[in-house]
Amino acid sequence: MKYSSTRGKAPAVSLGAAINAGLAPDGGLHVPETLPQLPLQSFDADDSLARVAARLLGPFFDGDDLAAQLGPICAEAFAFPAPLKPLADADDYLLELFHGPTAAFKDFGARFLAACMRRMPRASSQRPTTILVATSGDTGAAVAAAFAGLADFHVVILYPDGRVSPRQAHQLGCFGGNVSALRVAGSFDDCQAMVKQAFADNALRALVPLSSANSISLGRLLPQMAYYANAALLHLRDRDEMLNFVIPTGNLGNAFACILARACGLPIARIVLATNANRTLHDFFAGAAYTPRPSVATLANAMDVGDPSNFERLRWLYPDDTELRRHFTMDAIGDEAIRATIHSRYAAHGEIVCPHTATAVRTLEALRQEGVAGAWAAVATAHAAKFDTIVEPLIGRPVAVPEALAALLARPATAEPLAATYAALRAYLVGNRRNSGDNGLV
Ligand SMILES: *Cc1c(COP(=O)(O)O)cnc(C)c1O
Repeated sequence: MKYSSTRGKAPAVSLGAAINAGLAPDGGLHVPETLPQLPLQSFDADDSLARVAARLLGPFFDGDDLAAQLGPICAEAFAFPAPLKPLADADDYLLELFHGPTAAFKDFGARFLAACMRRMPRASSQRPTTILVATSGDTGAAVAAAFAGLADFHVVILYPDGRVSPRQAHQLGCFGGNVSALRVAGSFDDCQAMVKQAFADNALRALVPLSSANSISLGRLLPQMAYYANAALLHLRDRDEMLNFVIPTGNLGNAFACILARACGLPIARIVLATNANRTLHDFFAGAAYTPRPSVATLANAMDVGDPSNFERLRWLYPDDTELRRHFTMDAIGDEAIRATIHSRYAAHGEIVCPHTATAVRTLEALRQEGVAGAWAAVATAHAAKFDTIVEPLIGRPVAVPEALAALLARPATAEPLAATYAALRAYLVGNRRNSGDNGLV
């Protein structure tokens, strides 16, 4: 399989090259040249999640140097479950994607990317590769957890000081070792702009080898197909019907993986997107022209995106806007409705959901009110314990902390302050390289 660009002006490359490059040279995003069709017979009834992933991703790795290691890569990335749990109402489910080390779905993609990257030949065998990440909360922790302790990599995370949840901040700062957390005196958009400038700075990149791990990376996107495939296959076998999904959406990485899985023939029925008060996608699907805008801060902070980066991939798959709009529906859920949903699901059913998951649960409730039938899974993208300061006052009791998250919270955490300027980031990266060089000589 080769990967071309959504903009069609770059040569097709191998999967490994696409993962290393991040963006295609014409500024587009990498997409598979063909959509492999995966008939149900490609899967066995007793396949584990890791096995489903390996079978599903086989055609996407075909011809790549990493193909022979796909089994072990999937075993490393899919080392925890993604169960489909029934909700109180008949035929409603939660697809729980928060059983990884940092309690959000991004653990799957980040671990898969790390498992691929540590098996690839590196540009410089002398110096570690710096994985530079701007995060609004969950990405940074997942990437830090996935690369922590890998000697060939140094993870540098930039996050907006005071604008992530306290437990998100703790997770970012608790790894130490080859992971550095920088709390930036600015917004997430500032962090992202600083990171973009670093990638565009060739003089810097000659000194400090940089690599990215953001949500456009195929190394994160492709593996996310696996949990949708796994849930849909299990449901089809048990109940002889196709499963529908409602997916909390920010940059459209998680939802696009589901869309891609359906396009490859997996037994997935409807896909509905749920966003928070960031209405760019909502307005597009309601018929307006696609209009990026600045993000607004909401309770579901990992979805605070005003210009979803994977939208370009959606348009590649459905080039005609009218047809694209026919394929999906969506809803935008404001903070008041997020709060009301967290409160009422607990009061009525004892169910505890995080603010992101609440957008999907609320959207599913609205679909049912319209009389929509069939089996539906709302996707639970993070554990509620990560957002205890929002959830606990609404439900009036503490949220039990999962073991993996508790282990991280028990460690000490530190983050260095950084001014929100590119000069400050550059000086940090250059200084850091010098420090690690000195250490190397001793
Ligand atoms: C990142 C994230 C999202 C949004 O996912 P995208 O792939 O950016 O659409 C939703 N919920 C949580 C908890 C997240 O961390």
